[in-house]
Amino acid sequence: MSSVKNIAILGAGGLGRAAAQLLDQKEEFRLVAICDHEGYAYCPAGLSSRIFDDIPVMTTVGTLSEFGARSDDPIGEIIELGAAIDGIFLALPNLPSEFIPSIVKRFADAGWSGAMTDALKRTSAVKLMMELDGDLKASGISYVTGAGCTPGLLSAAAALAAQSFVEVTDVEIYFGVGIANWESYRATIREDIAHMDGFDVAKAKAMTNDEVAAELDRRGGKLELVDMEHADDIMLELAGVVDASKVRVGGIVDTWNAKKPVSTRVTVTGRTFDGATSTNTFTLGDETSMAANVNGTAFGYLKTAMWLGGLGAGGVFTAADLMPRFVK
Ligand code: NAD
Repeated sequence: MSSVKNIAILGAGGLGRAAAQLLDQKEEFRLVAICDHEGYAYCPAGLSSRIFDDIPVMTTVGTLSEFGARSDDPIGEIIELGAAIDGIFLALPNLPSEFIPSIVKRFADAGWSGAMTDALKRTSAVKLMMELDGDLKASGISYVTGAGCTPGLLSAAAALAAQSFVEVTDVEIYFGVGIANWESYRATIREDIAHMDGFDVAKAKAMTNDEVAAELDRRGGKLELVDMEHADDIMLELAGVVDASKVRVGGIVDTWNAKKPVSTRVTVTGRTFDGATSTNTFTLGDETSMAANVNGTAFGYLKTAMWLGGLGAGGVFTAADLMPRFVK
């Protein structure tokens, strides 16, 4: 890929802002547009993450004097930019599960063509994305769904690790996330609370920020997640690696401490052609943050999606079908 690609990030929360910082250090991708729920910012020459120095977390990028504009429909403004954007990363909340698929459908309905990735987590949400395959093909969009860390990097690692085996019998993903302040990642934490006993997506969405903080206080800042509804299962099944029922995902999220409470790993157990049973393990370095693992992978898959687009392959793919490329 020779020319610099123009990138838009939808969502300017924890992941969106960290993604802008990451792009400061990339040559092949240039951030030209970013939006939140109240406005957007656009600069064809490129936006640096320094724009956030003067915008506190809850303040819209629409307040930026030079590049920003408030809007009742910031997503519509990004759609209007049309051919000025080559690739889009959706760092939006996904409560309810149909929210991000409905945004993607708007781009397809408007006839936008280009590359897109998301960091969707739930199985139900990825299934909804898969249903958009025909719409996206018709519009000329090459889309990689489940392109964060889990699902995403770890699902791709599982698909790679499976190659030692003729039969995969078990995939376990266990992640550790440490963040110093939950308010930097409101959607992520709300969506994790939705997996806890006694909660669901509707209940987590309806919680006020004070209620979320009180719930985290009650748990000493830690969320311990077991048997999550995570799309790694359906993605690995669609890729032909293993039945979704054999994939388990859990982890610990510490919202009071930036240090990972436990190392993030994926273990893939199976039977080899010559009769051995073994387990391949992929472990992330403890110093890699959630934002580094999610955003690096999302942009790597955005480059893969651009490559697919160049081959004329539109539609919806998952991270387990493909390897992320590396953005220089
Ligand atoms: P956040 O709450 O910090 O930020 C969300 C941003 O989206 C905000 O800027 C908000 O204004 C904006 N927004 C909300 N509604 C909008 C709308 N209608 N139009 C335009 N902008 C809108 O969220 P976050 O913690 O950064 O998480 C983002 C997403 O990333 C979540 O869905 C989360 O589940 C996902 N995530 C995935 C992984 C993974 O490994 N797959 C890991 C972490 C987070």
